[in-house]
Amino acid sequence: MPDDQEIIRAALRRARELGADVAGAVPAKRLIDCPSAVADGYRGSQRDRGTYIVLGLYHDPEHPELDLWEPDRGTPGDRILTGIGRDLGRWLQEHYGVESRVIPYQPEAGGIYLKDAACMAGIGRMGRNNLVLVPGYGPRVRFRAVWVELECPDRDLPKGDLCAGCEGYCIRACPMDALSTGRFSRERCLERMNADKASGRERIDHCRACELACPARGE
Ligand code: SF4
Ligand code: SF4
Repeated sequence: MPDDQEIIRAALRRARELGADVAGAVPAKRLIDCPSAVADGYRGSQRDRGTYIVLGLYHDPEHPELDLWEPDRGTPGDRILTGIGRDLGRWLQEHYGVESRVIPYQPEAGGIYLKDAACMAGIGRMGRNNLVLVPGYGPRVRFRAVWVELECPDRDLPKGDLCAGCEGYCIRACPMDALSTGRFSRERCLERMNADKASGRERIDHCRACELACPARGE
C-alpha cells in the first residue's frame, strides 16, 4: 500500500488528468491561522487533520462565460472545478479507499481561504492585486479545494515579490481605488461586487479589472 505522500502525488497528477490546470496540497492545520483568517478574526479551517488538495482552473479572458455568476448557481468555472473535485474523490475512494470531500466555497460555510491555501500549497504567490500569480497563468486562475483523509508535510514557501519592478497596472485599473494604499481594501472591492449583484442582470460579469490588467505570468 502506498503511503500518504505517494497517494497525494498520484492525486495531484489525477487532478490534472481530470481537467485542473494546477493542483497542490497543504496540511489542513496550516489553514487555521492563515493570514486571511487572522485578518478576519475567523478560524480558517474547520479541520485540523488531513490535507486540502487545491485545484485551479485557468480562466482564459477569451472565455469570459466561465466567470458569469448566477445566484444559487455560482459560475460555470466553479461548477467545472466542483466536478473535478468530485471525480477526484471517487477515484481516491476506488483506488485507495481514501475518504474525501469537496468543501464549500465560502469560509463561513465550512470552506477555507482558497488564495491563502493556493499559496501555501506552492501553486503561486500573492500579487499586489490580492490575487494569486500562478506560473504560466498569472492571476487568471480560480480555485476550489477537496479535503482528503491523508497527511502531507509542510513545505517551504517560495520567496520573492513577483510584483517587483511592475508599474502597478492593477492599481491604476481598479475603478474603486481599492489597491492604491498598497493594502487591498476588501470593503471597496465588495462595494463594487454588491453593486454588480444588485444590478438585476440575470448573469453577472463581476469586475476583473485588476486581474485582466496584470501582465504577470507568475514565473
Ligand atoms: S475586482 Fe475590481 S473593484 Fe475589486 S479590486 Fe479588482 S479592480 Fe478593484
Ligand atoms: S499588475 Fe503588476 S503590481 Fe499588479 S499584481 Fe500584476 S504584476 Fe503585481
